[in-house]
Amino acid sequence: MLNLSAPHFHDEEAAYAYVEKRLWPNGAACPHCGGVDRVGKLKGKTTRTGLWKCYQCRKPFTVKIGTIFEDSKVPMRIWLQAMFLIAGSKKGLSSNQLHRILGVTLKTAWFMSHRIREAMRDAEMDMFGGFGSEVQADETYIGPKKRSER
Ligand SMILES: [Zn+2]
Repeated sequence: MLNLSAPHFHDEEAAYAYVEKRLWPNGAACPHCGGVDRVGKLKGKTTRTGLWKCYQCRKPFTVKIGTIFEDSKVPMRIWLQAMFLIAGSKKGLSSNQLHRILGVTLKTAWFMSHRIREAMRDAEMDMFGGFGSEVQADETYIGPKKRSER
């Protein structure tokens, strides 16, 4: 049973590993050139968590690129907590509640819940049931553009 005590909700390395396993079931893929063979995880004390390098196009990347986590400074573990809370709340969770529970600013809480809700609508799924490549939301999902109603 998944609950908030799981390591990926508290440990940043574990959080990245959790997301990488779901978005890259066959191993890391470079979002810049699509390379999969010559990619390596960068390690070291000063290295940002979850940073990879593609030795084909020589660009660094993380699993965040092309997902709802892109361009966000919010730690991955906080994103996962937010997704867990939102996905698990029947009545929905307001940005204000998220802000208080997670201890992030109201602005950040709003930003996260907006992105998560968009992704959930598009994926039409419980993120923790099948959290797969469907979660990859491109710019069109994330932008303010209105999508057609179902
Ligand atoms: Zn590449």
